[in-house]
Amino acid sequence: MPLSEVDPEIAAVLEAELGRQRDTLEMIASENFAPRSVLEVQGSVLTNKYAEGYPGRRYYGGCEHVDVAENLAIDRVKALFGAEFANVQPHAGAQANAAALSALIEPGDKMMGLSLAHGGHLTHGMKLNFSGKLYEVAAYEVDPKSFRVDMDKVREQALAERPNVIVAGWSAYPRQLDFEAFRSIADEVGAYFWTDMAHFAGLVAAGLHPNPVPHADVVTSTVHKTLAGPRSGVILAKEQFGKKINSNVFPGQQGGPLMHVVAAKAVAFKIAASEEFRQRQERVLEGARILADRLNAPDVAGAGVSVLTGGTDVHLVLVDLRNSELDGKQAEDLLHSVGITVNRNAVPFDPRPPMVTSGLRIGTPALATRGFGAAEFEEVSDVIATALKGGADTEMLRKRVAKLAQDFPLYPGHEEW
Ligand code: PLP
Repeated sequence: MPLSEVDPEIAAVLEAELGRQRDTLEMIASENFAPRSVLEVQGSVLTNKYAEGYPGRRYYGGCEHVDVAENLAIDRVKALFGAEFANVQPHAGAQANAAALSALIEPGDKMMGLSLAHGGHLTHGMKLNFSGKLYEVAAYEVDPKSFRVDMDKVREQALAERPNVIVAGWSAYPRQLDFEAFRSIADEVGAYFWTDMAHFAGLVAAGLHPNPVPHADVVTSTVHKTLAGPRSGVILAKEQFGKKINSNVFPGQQGGPLMHVVAAKAVAFKIAASEEFRQRQERVLEGARILADRLNAPDVAGAGVSVLTGGTDVHLVLVDLRNSELDGKQAEDLLHSVGITVNRNAVPFDPRPPMVTSGLRIGTPALATRGFGAAEFEEVSDVIATALKGGADTEMLRKRVAKLAQDFPLYPGHEEW
């Protein structure tokens, strides 16, 4: 029986969400559009299969076909990033990080990561997260003038704090990190070096961002951000950590792997090795640079709006609204009203409360997947700049957004999901 008959209420949610994704411009930096092939695998019979364990060593019978899928996912992701070892079972980025941490250190040990308020992730030591509860945390911050991670300060802090693991990675930071410098600091203080490349993994896969894999002991990632695969996580590591990582994913953190998602990861890793994917990531970066340039223009600066660090090396721009009349919440709502979805984001040293904030995080991956090139990124950047300056004709901006959405149809040819 089709979903529309079994559960018309949920069918209506799917239809409405497909409409929303099609009719608006998605600029949340952590989101993307998974290709039809990935959605197909995720909605397949593989969801029925229990497969606790690893290929060839399962605790359930009938795993001969899902073993093929998991081995393909492992081989492809190792080749994509040049890794010695991979575990493709983490249900999400947070699970990958929990397993990586528990493989490397013991409860009560010390971890050092970028503060959440300065662009780090919850799993890098936030006090309400498992990481902040289980481990002692020494958070590093960005420099108050440059808004960049200053490696001399990280080294100083590491020498004073003597952490057991140092993590490089972020959820809201517009620049590349220096993995070699992190490695050398970790070696100097006797810490493990972990990189969380959840946000920029797609850029690494395309060869457009330094690869942390040769430098780090362990590298975790999500698969659904710049990588544009199914919502999930993955762990890469030096071979010597493989056994410990496997046992800390299963049975350490998880039960049965989601085999429909594991197989969908294999598809995503295959696509990420393609020339089409590389060109798309080039458009991602070009789009972010165009957006930063437009938001740095004098007319925008005049309204107290600027871009943190003055630009970007990655797929996102952090808009600084500390001197603007608009706060982060108002700016998010304003862009939403013209059909552009972004998220408000605290800026480092933010004077406004976390539910309001003085910043926006705006990313280009989803629109690049939709087919946007330089001309379209210029147009959407101008819409954003015009809106943030204040006093704009929002009806006119809404029409410009609607035209872009119409010219670049999402999932064309599929009337229902
Ligand atoms: N690590 C980083 C750097 C992230 O930005 C995120 C998600 O935002 C995660 C991990 C967690 O991923 P998930 O939401 O899949 O648990």
